[in-house]
Amino acid sequence: LRVLNEVFGYDRFRGAQAEIIEQVMTGGDALVLMPTGGGKSLCYQVPAIVTPGLGVVVSPLIALMQDQVDALRLLGVRAAFLNSSLDAQAAGEVIRSMTTGDLDLLYVAPERLVSGGFLAQLDRIHAGHGIALFAIDEAHCVSQWGHDFRPEYLGLSVLAERFPDVPRLALTATADQITRAEIRDRLALGAAPEFISSFDRPNIRYTVVEKLTARDQLMGFLAGDSPETSLIGTSGIVYCSSRKKVDQTAAWLAGQGITALAYHAGLDASARRATQDRFQREEGVVVVATIAFGMGIDKPDVRFVAHLDLPKSIEAYYQETGRAGRDGDPAHAWMAYGLADVVLQRSWIDSSDAPPEIRRVESAKLDALLGYCEAATCRRVVLLDYFGERTEPCGNCDTCLVPPVLWDGTVEAQKFLSGVIRTGQRFGAGHVIDLLVGRSTERMTALEHDQLPTFGVGADLDQQAWRGVARQLVAQGLLTVDSSAYGALRVTPAAQPVLRGELRLDLRRATPRPAGRAAGGRRRRGAGVQTAHADLAGADAGLFEGLRTERKSIADEQGVPAYVVFHDATLREIATRR
Ligand code: ADP
Ligand code: ZN
Repeated sequence: LRVLNEVFGYDRFRGAQAEIIEQVMTGGDALVLMPTGGGKSLCYQVPAIVTPGLGVVVSPLIALMQDQVDALRLLGVRAAFLNSSLDAQAAGEVIRSMTTGDLDLLYVAPERLVSGGFLAQLDRIHAGHGIALFAIDEAHCVSQWGHDFRPEYLGLSVLAERFPDVPRLALTATADQITRAEIRDRLALGAAPEFISSFDRPNIRYTVVEKLTARDQLMGFLAGDSPETSLIGTSGIVYCSSRKKVDQTAAWLAGQGITALAYHAGLDASARRATQDRFQREEGVVVVATIAFGMGIDKPDVRFVAHLDLPKSIEAYYQETGRAGRDGDPAHAWMAYGLADVVLQRSWIDSSDAPPEIRRVESAKLDALLGYCEAATCRRVVLLDYFGERTEPCGNCDTCLVPPVLWDGTVEAQKFLSGVIRTGQRFGAGHVIDLLVGRSTERMTALEHDQLPTFGVGADLDQQAWRGVARQLVAQGLLTVDSSAYGALRVTPAAQPVLRGELRLDLRRATPRPAGRAAGGRRRRGAGVQTAHADLAGADAGLFEGLRTERKSIADEQGVPAYVVFHDATLREIATRR
């Protein structure tokens, strides 16, 4: 507590921090799951400062290491880092100070840690001044099935073998059950306790829409329903699945007057760095990116994260959307998805040369994500449930705000499934829907599918409604997408009870949603997302804008991002209290 007060300036520990610190300081290991911004760093920084000897922190993020070490030094903590960004001389100095016992905390890249020479150094320190603990940050990188796998992390099993008496603390902000088990296994954590904080991010509003004209939908989402709820001019991230789409989308958004920058692995390092810096420092920059963007981004005032394509898994989605709203102000996670995304992802999984068991896991993760996309209940409940956390319907997601209408879709499901069967399970959703609504396309007549008994039996529903049926049948596992046959739909054994009429199927109705965020229904008072000044009385809005301008000039003068000077929440409070 004294270190917490005197070094870090905080009055009390947050959440499970005290318990975790106690566990480590009494020599135990632990697995810590805390959302980003939850306060993981203190869990190893405090014990490393209090306990004699060196605290070793393994981190894969070079930029973050530097930031953390700079911040610690400002607080007077004896900290340093070792990674490929240091030249030989600087690295030599760090090693000297660590062997002479002049360091409390050393941040080190995993590949450096497991190198023979470094391990030999650690042996000497272990025998001399001692090693206080090993903290393995971003521990999910050890998981081969995860989305951030780092082969270097596999080498970390050496820590348990070589230094069995030194406490190991594994920390991550993202780990489902499978990944957790893998971390435990690879880092030899045995029966060490797990400290799991709530993963809920209550200020993030989740919305999933059917992908139609994705870009226009995105603009509609950004524009909101009124100037007060507009997100235009705020910082955000737009994720796309390919480089080409990133480039096109960024150019298109720029044409709409939005400060949009592209970011993907195909751009050279200096361009990427420049984009990242602008995003971090300026206000109102939108980065359009592949998943290459985000690791290590720590910008508190990101107001939205939009997905124009389906992410890889719920874990990936949660981590990507988790970059929004770290300052606690209202923020948005918005996604547009369609069956074509599913076809694409299935084909990636099926055509990868990963072993079958890994593909099985990937496939199960995709299914879980589809379940989320097609959820008829609170999205937050589904998300948190995936991480093993139970919660009540949140009132801050699209399905809570405008509950979807459920209807008995058994007969329609039967029609769709028989349409698939009658056409030989060789066609994608588009053709099957044409068949059901009775569209005599060229292909239809050429194949004589217009002669089938199912032709036109579904004319009572429109195409959008049928697409909704198709997606839900896929999400519920009654249909699969055969990527080897260009996305042909196939009926699974799970569909049999429905086909035989033994199981009733409730489906959510495809509501024609307007482009904006109102999602086709009533809005709750005060539930709308606010831009920075929305909850200010009119008289104060001008003052707030003035403060923002002043903040910007202070920030520019000091060469720091605006939020470093003051968060929006602070400016708002100044403007309100005068
Ligand atoms: P994480 O690594 O989990 O993303 P950090 O360790 O960077 O999170 O902490 C997030 C923020 O919370 C930091 O600004 C940190 O100073 C602050 N914080 C952490 N613990 C406390 C505490 N006990 N009291 C107040 N602020 C804290
Ligand atoms: Zn909800």
